[in-house]
Amino acid sequence: MHTPAPAWAADGARHVWLPYAQMKTAAPPLPVVRTHGSRIELADGRSLVDGVASWWTACHGYNHPAIAQAVRGQLDAMPHVMFGGLTHEPAARLAQRLCALLGPGFERVFYTDSGSVAVEVAMKMAVQFWLNQGERQRSRFLAFRGGYHGDTFGTMAVCDPEDGMHSLFRGLLTQHVMAPLPRDEASQAELDALLRQHAHELAGILVEPLVQGAGGMLMHPPEVLARLRALADRHGLLLIYDEIFTGFGRTGTMFAFEQADARPDIVTLSKALTGGTLPLAATVASRRVFDGFWSDDPGHALMHGPTFMGNALACAAANASLDLFENEPRLEQVATLSRALEAGLAPCRELPWVRDVRVLGAIAAVELAAPFDRDALRARLVEAGVWVRPFGNIVYLTPAFTIGRDDLDFLIAAVAGVVRTMRPPAA
Ligand SMILES: *Cc1c(COP(=O)(O)O)cnc(C)c1O
Repeated sequence: MHTPAPAWAADGARHVWLPYAQMKTAAPPLPVVRTHGSRIELADGRSLVDGVASWWTACHGYNHPAIAQAVRGQLDAMPHVMFGGLTHEPAARLAQRLCALLGPGFERVFYTDSGSVAVEVAMKMAVQFWLNQGERQRSRFLAFRGGYHGDTFGTMAVCDPEDGMHSLFRGLLTQHVMAPLPRDEASQAELDALLRQHAHELAGILVEPLVQGAGGMLMHPPEVLARLRALADRHGLLLIYDEIFTGFGRTGTMFAFEQADARPDIVTLSKALTGGTLPLAATVASRRVFDGFWSDDPGHALMHGPTFMGNALACAAANASLDLFENEPRLEQVATLSRALEAGLAPCRELPWVRDVRVLGAIAAVELAAPFDRDALRARLVEAGVWVRPFGNIVYLTPAFTIGRDDLDFLIAAVAGVVRTMRPPAA
């Protein structure tokens, strides 16, 4: 027996506009009253095991006491102060730590408050890097089919133009050069040809390293990144890694690019940066890129500055999250999680209506052969006691790295069970 939705949910539902939802037909959102660990507690008393970690952010599980304590302490001292002309310890310390974690060459952190804006800043940085050298024609990017980099106008233009979420706006967006990832000889040849034709007008190459997330949990081997690095060098382009999804352990290493012998010039970070507690993003530049702005000419300054950049609460949360990566065995947990996801979902491969099952780090995707009734599937997963949010023809799991064995087994069994009963109706 479920109790009816609380009054605030029904009253508010008339005024809230939901993401990516046809408001007329979408199922109403589930009212949540509490989170803890890998659990989402609903207003009607049900407790769901979370398989999504709130869009891949809550890597330490919900309500980690160490992050809560850091944020509480910062709230008393100073929740926020403008970052123009002022600075504070949480932001300064975080910048230093992020550069140290990213490794040699990484020098400067530019803070923003969402992933899309971090990518916008990376693109602006790359374009202005060339403008500052008098190269006015380098205003476009090479980006990849299957990619996703955000929802703003600048970033929609570098998402997959056809299968992405933004095909509706195609005519209104800057035309960038969309290429296949160089996985084999044919795609390598196509990419080479595109670069020969367009390199002179490109500012850089933008890619999600190892996994294209929102574009379909599409994975590629590290050699692809080495090829992109070589091409960027050959054509004198900046290489930008969008690690907003992959950063902070999700693929098994702190950053996905550590698995490849190919370092970028600019990296974007967000999602798990604060352990899923507060909005924060960062665009981190290498010394080469930063040097392109270092000048006596005020016109060469990076022309960007979000109101809430470097928010002290968010930076305190991020520092506490990095402490947890240092003090708790997160990457070992990811490795264990990865093996459990692989073993638990492997039987789905035998189903004729499953096209592929792929696992990398703490990411598992079951790709179905045909698109499905998403609302019905989502409802069945909730009935099974789990929070999983399939899209396209992908059912994926990206749990918290700290999920307990019981919850993990329950989650995998629920997803495998629901996928098993998804046989499409006979034609
Ligand atoms: C989520 C995501 C973004 C956009 O981040 P928002 O915070 O939603 O604006 C950009 N790039 C990648 C790879 C992402 O996964």
